[in-house]
Amino acid sequence: MKQNKQRKVCEFLMPLPLHIQENEGSFRIHNGITISSAPIFRDLAELARLQLTCNLGGEDILFKLSEGFSPEEYSLKVTRNQIVLSASYIQGAFHGLQTLRQVALANDNIIPCCFIKDKPMYSWRGFMLDCSRHFFSPSFIMKLIDVAALHHLNRFHWHLTDDQGWRFPVAGYPKLESIASKRKEIEYTKEFSYGGFYQKKDIEKIVAYAHRRQMQVIPEIETPGHASALLAAYPNLGCSKGPYEVQNHWGIFKEVMCAGNDEVLSFLDSAIGTLATLFTDPYIHIGGDECPHTTWEQCPACQKRMHDNSLKNENELQAWMITQIAKLVEKHGKRPIGWDEVLDGSENLGLPKNLIVMSWRGVEGGLKASQLGHQIIMSPNTQGCYLDYKHLDSIEEPGNLGVTTVQDTAQFTPCPSQMDIKSQAMVLGGQANLWTEKVVFSRQAEYLLFPRLSVMAERLWNPQPIESIENRRSSLEKKLACLDINCYRGNYQ
Ligand SMILES: [Zn+2]
Repeated sequence: MKQNKQRKVCEFLMPLPLHIQENEGSFRIHNGITISSAPIFRDLAELARLQLTCNLGGEDILFKLSEGFSPEEYSLKVTRNQIVLSASYIQGAFHGLQTLRQVALANDNIIPCCFIKDKPMYSWRGFMLDCSRHFFSPSFIMKLIDVAALHHLNRFHWHLTDDQGWRFPVAGYPKLESIASKRKEIEYTKEFSYGGFYQKKDIEKIVAYAHRRQMQVIPEIETPGHASALLAAYPNLGCSKGPYEVQNHWGIFKEVMCAGNDEVLSFLDSAIGTLATLFTDPYIHIGGDECPHTTWEQCPACQKRMHDNSLKNENELQAWMITQIAKLVEKHGKRPIGWDEVLDGSENLGLPKNLIVMSWRGVEGGLKASQLGHQIIMSPNTQGCYLDYKHLDSIEEPGNLGVTTVQDTAQFTPCPSQMDIKSQAMVLGGQANLWTEKVVFSRQAEYLLFPRLSVMAERLWNPQPIESIENRRSSLEKKLACLDINCYRGNYQ
């Protein structure tokens, strides 16, 4: 009888590892298989037991501590009798486990014999979920973190405040939950209250879950614009003092935080202090995008602030505000990140040098910021990074107005050709974003995220062309189905 050709391990992986040597034979994972680990990897071995459905004890699968690997680097040696996963750091060992898990999911627990040596191209491999426009449950967020980590992504950017809802508690500001977290919506003819709020214990649970998967969590508090929900609860923080409403439609709203009111900075001090305690990773995102200045032009307090600080116009007032807010983040021991609008109006004033700029309006913001000496994260909406856009230009497809095909994402690079060596040195990595104005349920979020997020993960780890991605399409869809992910299955280009 003709033997089935052995399938190769490279068919089952996204991102593709940097180096694979395929060998004859295979190792089968089943519930009689045992796992051992060096003491440093003990928690990981416990996670491996759960993810691979094995037992602890023997050395069928061995997590070995080895010298000389960089933090995210690992090697994986699969023979017929044993799997040895080597790393110097827990991040690397975790990535090795996820590579093994990908093959197990895609190939019914049969791991072809191989030797893999692997490490990422970029250190910042992120994804963002907007939980203000629509609220997503902690259990869905954890599901998403797990699937993202399976693809070696390592940064979850959590958009927690916007015009349509405020989603985390700040001590002394109870109306953030009772007013700012809810908006009025109409279902048929009946008005109802839509919203949601992450309690401290929800946030702690999500952060711990992410950390076990070697993923940092970056909270975002929008400042000084996109603030309608906050102002509805605390109208004294706006220029006109209200009344304001939590918005129930989409866009850019002229009601923003008053830049002349010291109470705004004292509120932000408390809010950023809360985030700094709840989120133990090094970064806090301060937004900074899409802030109209119309109310500032009319507001005596804002005009006085400009006069007192010799600011020439409202653009400079915004740069002044961003600087104050970035300093608050630093005061609480974290590093600030802002959308590329933070550069606007900063020409004369400058910005704190350790402010990281996230380039979303194309690549220009990133280029400019890097020339000014800021580290940058590339997430341009023009280059396949906006996953709220439709998969295809078709009336049948859900999503926002733009189109981002899988191929568009497969062409993304954080270092485009017009970027010189000096700027490239400032690139931390890249990120895909899911804004959720049109994403009501988690199943829709999954459909828009996958497979583009899997492709994005590969672009940031070990980029491959679209043909290679198409070749691995069926194994990717199988893995995602195993994890109950609702994946887009249409054309890639
Ligand atoms: Zn004002």
